[in-house]
Amino acid sequence: MESLWNDDEAAKYQGDLAKRVYTSRLLGRDKSLVLHGGGNTSVKITEKDIFSEPVDLLYVKGSGWDLEFIEQAGFSPVRLEHLQKLATLESLSDLDMVNELRCNMLQASAPTPSVEAILHATLPYKYVDHTHADAVVTITNTENGLERVQEVFGDSVVIIPYVMPGFDLARLCAEQFAAQANENTIGMVLMNHGIFSFGESAQESYERMIALVTRAENYLLTHQAWTIENTGAGADSAAKREQVAALRQQVSIARGQPVIMRVQSDQATQTFLAHEDLAGITQQGPATPDHVIRTKRVPLLGRDVDRYVEQYREYFAEQGATGDYTMLDPAPRMILDQELGLCSIGDSAAAAAIVQDIYNHTMTIIQRATLLGGYRALPASDIFAVEYWELEQAKLKKGGSRAEFGGEVALVTGAASGIGQACVESLLARGAAVIGLDINESIVSMYQREDFLGIVCDVTERQQVASALEQGVSRFGGLDMLIVNAGVFPGGCNIAELDLDEWRRVMNINLDASLMLMQLAYPLLRCAPEHGRVVVVGSKNVPAPGIGAASYSASKAALNQLVRIAAMEWGVDGIRVNTVHPDAVFDTGLWTDEVLAARAEHYGMTVDEYKSRNILKTQVSSADVAELVAAMCGSLFQCTTAAQVPIDGGNERVI
Ligand code: ZN
Repeated sequence: MESLWNDDEAAKYQGDLAKRVYTSRLLGRDKSLVLHGGGNTSVKITEKDIFSEPVDLLYVKGSGWDLEFIEQAGFSPVRLEHLQKLATLESLSDLDMVNELRCNMLQASAPTPSVEAILHATLPYKYVDHTHADAVVTITNTENGLERVQEVFGDSVVIIPYVMPGFDLARLCAEQFAAQANENTIGMVLMNHGIFSFGESAQESYERMIALVTRAENYLLTHQAWTIENTGAGADSAAKREQVAALRQQVSIARGQPVIMRVQSDQATQTFLAHEDLAGITQQGPATPDHVIRTKRVPLLGRDVDRYVEQYREYFAEQGATGDYTMLDPAPRMILDQELGLCSIGDSAAAAAIVQDIYNHTMTIIQRATLLGGYRALPASDIFAVEYWELEQAKLKKGGSRAEFGGEVALVTGAASGIGQACVESLLARGAAVIGLDINESIVSMYQREDFLGIVCDVTERQQVASALEQGVSRFGGLDMLIVNAGVFPGGCNIAELDLDEWRRVMNINLDASLMLMQLAYPLLRCAPEHGRVVVVGSKNVPAPGIGAASYSASKAALNQLVRIAAMEWGVDGIRVNTVHPDAVFDTGLWTDEVLAARAEHYGMTVDEYKSRNILKTQVSSADVAELVAAMCGSLFQCTTAAQVPIDGGNERVI
C-alpha cells in the first residue's frame, strides 16, 4: 500500500483541523481502506469558548460524511473531558450516548458525532485514524485470525476481540489499551472489524496506518494469499435481460417497492462463482459488520427469492426473539447467480452501486482468506446486533419517504435535446433512473450521475436498440417507463413533389423504429413491479395535419394508431399506453432564431405574437411537455390508457 501523502498538497492545509481534513481525504481515496462512509478520524484541539476560556475538544467525523470528500464542517467539536468521563460509566445505551454527544458539542449546527467518539477520546494521541482495511479484515476473518494478527503486528498494536461498535467497544478499548500498550504501540486491531492508528501529527498517524496495512498486505503476499487467478469465462449476458427483469420484479415484491438491480458478470465474478464451496464461503456473513446495513447478512444464491425471504424471517425470529424489534424488509441486497453473475440491489441507483462496490471488495477478501486457510465471519448474532441496533431502528421509525419514481427505470429516446432531454430531467427529478438514447454522442456525457446512463443509439437499427436495452438492464435491472420521443420533422414538401425515399426515411424513423422499440421493450415492461407505462410523443399534426407535411403527419398518425392498439393488447399486462400531442414547442433545436423570425414575418406577426398564437395566448415549452409526460407515468393517470392529450395552448382545428 502506498502513502498518498504529498508535501506540496499538505502545505495547502494549514492548522490542526485542516491537516485532519487532508489525511482523512487521503484515507478516503483508497477504497481498500474505507468504502462509502466507512471509517472515522479525529483530532484533539484546545480552543477558546464564548467566555474566552480554553476548552479541550475532540473534533471527530460526523455521521453522514464520507472521508473522501470531508470538509472541516464534517467534523463535530465535542468536549473532550465529558467524553472521557462518559468512558468511566458502567453502561450507556446507544440512544443516551448519542444524546450526550449532541449535548456536548460546541457547535449546535455540527453533524451528530460518530458513535466511535468516546473511543477516539480515550486514546492518548492527538490524531486517531480508523479504517476497515481489506487486508486487515482478510487476516482477522480466518480460522486462526488472532494468532495471525499477533504474528503480523507483534507488539506494535493492541488487539481487541470483537465487540459491537458503540459504548461497550469504547470501554473495552480503553481498558485493553491501558493493559497492552507499550512504547512500540502505533495502532490497534479490532478483530472482524478493522484497524486504528494514532500519532502526534496528522502525517504520523496516517503514515502509521499505511505502514500497518502494508504489513498485512505483505503477510498475504508471502502466504500466497494475495493474487487471485481469474479462470472464469466472463459470461455473455446477451438475451438474459428478460431473466434479469423478472428477477428484479421478484425482489421488488419482497422489498415492497421497486428496486434498482445492477448486474455484473465479468471474469472475476465468474471465477468467484465457480468456487467449489460457494455456499460455504458466501453464507457466513460480511467482512466487517457495518456493511450489513447496506448488504444484509448474506447474498441469495440462485434465484429463489421466496426461499430467501423465508430464511430471513427465520433469522429474524431466531435472533430477534429477545428484544422488541421491527423487522426490516426481507428482500436480498445481493444475488449470486451462476448464469447472471452478481446482482446488487438498492432503493436507488446510487445505493445499488454502493452494494456492488462493497461486495467486490468482499469477494476479494473472501478469496484471499480462503487461500489463507478459510474465511470465518462473525456469528449471525453479532451481525444481527448491528443490523438491528437501536440507532438504526430509530431511523426506521422516522421513516424515509420514497420519491414518486424511486427505484424505477425509464428509457427516453431522442434524449440529448429538446423534449427528450426535458423528459430526462422531469423523470430524474421524480427519482427514476433514466436510460437516455440519442444518435448524438453528447448523450454519453450529458450527466455524470449514477442514475443516468446515456447511450449512443440509432433507433432504426434493431441491433443497436437491443444492445442499448441490454446495457440499460445490466445497469438498472429492468424497465418501467418507455418514452417514445425520437423522431424527425423534414422540411415542407407538397405531395406532388414528394420523393418516395424521403417518405420511407421519415416512416422508418417515426413509425418503424417506434414499433421495433416497443416490441423489444414489451417483455421488460411486463415485468415492471408497478406495471409498465408507455408515453408516446405524438403531434398536433395527428388531429390537425398541415399542408406540405404529408410524410410527417402520416407517420405520426400511423404511430398514433399503433399506440392505440398497443393500449388494447398490453392492457392485460397492466401496461398503460398514452400519447401527448404537442404543438409549437419553440425551445427545441428545430426552431432557430432565423426560422422563427421568418415564420413570424410570413404571418405578419412579431416573434412573441407568433410563438403564442394559440387560444390561451401562451408559450408551450419542452419542460411543459415533459412534465405532462412524467405525470402520465404517475398515479394521476393510473386509470387512464389510450388517452391523447393535446399540449398546444389550445388549437381551434384540434378542438
Ligand atoms: Zn469501524
